[in-house]
Amino acid sequence: MRALDLDHRGGTVFEFGDDWTVLAVDDRSEKPLLAMRRVGKGHIVIGARGLFGQKPDASDPINNSWVGPLLTELAEAKPIDPKKPHRRTWVEHAREIGPLTLEYHDGTEPFADAIYEVYTEVRPHLEVITGCEPSPGMVKSLLVLPTGGGGFSSGARIAIGAWWGNYPEKRYPMVELIAHEAGHSWVLPHAEPLWNEPIATYLGIQVGRRMGMAQADETLGRQIAKGRRHDPDYDAIDPLSEGAPRDVIWGKSYYVFEELRRLYGEDFMAKYFAAKRRLITKNRPSYSMDDCVAVWSVALDTDLFPWFRSLAFDVDRDRTDIELNQG
Ligand SMILES: [Zn+2]
Repeated sequence: MRALDLDHRGGTVFEFGDDWTVLAVDDRSEKPLLAMRRVGKGHIVIGARGLFGQKPDASDPINNSWVGPLLTELAEAKPIDPKKPHRRTWVEHAREIGPLTLEYHDGTEPFADAIYEVYTEVRPHLEVITGCEPSPGMVKSLLVLPTGGGGFSSGARIAIGAWWGNYPEKRYPMVELIAHEAGHSWVLPHAEPLWNEPIATYLGIQVGRRMGMAQADETLGRQIAKGRRHDPDYDAIDPLSEGAPRDVIWGKSYYVFEELRRLYGEDFMAKYFAAKRRLITKNRPSYSMDDCVAVWSVALDTDLFPWFRSLAFDVDRDRTDIELNQG
């Protein structure tokens, strides 16, 4: 058995009976992270998502050195013909609704229409907040996942866990999640450095606010307060630095957006999206934080580098090719 140092970010812990073998536990809490048992001729393995890295494209395959061989070993009894194509298991149902394909399983059918309804409520707010439509070719299908564990966006497809945040009893988490995943499709072809996740949730919070949901402000306030425990005035820790606490990265991101909203008005995000769509085109090789602050500066017609530096961001206008004065 392995002991790994892996943050349990909330969630519940599976209780394994005697017929399970626990393969890895958390170093501190000793909660199980990976377990297996025999089923018929094969095995079933259950593991925490974080064991396999954080990035959806598996570009950070942590633990692969032992998880890879383990999975190969467990699958040994299973006949595999490499000449046959991999058998895909996809959703049972797909239905065209308006501009979207709605995809769902038998088990998620009761939720599919309701989740699509929420999407249709959320989308116009996103268009007002960002002042634009999703990037071309994006958000073409909505996949309802048989899980409560969140969602994902591949750009063209957004996927939403049917029971996220105790839906349908609670609505705000679902509104925030749908706006978050759709938001990932709004920012392409170049996602924000550092802010890929915070900006998506911030869009969700803004949608929740516009829908009059009190939890939106609560979520925002809670995260800003958490970050202040590490950086009380938000002027000390560079969120881009190695080891910057996660709560600072998130809290300071929200703080920045809220300050920009307070100083430049409700359409600050729409101005940013307009400038970004114009300046950051598909053929650009990358999008750095220096580029990002330059885009904000153009959008709001102010050199924002000194302001970001006052908040301890290591950004430099000499490291971007984007001209601040576009006039
Ligand atoms: Zn996300």
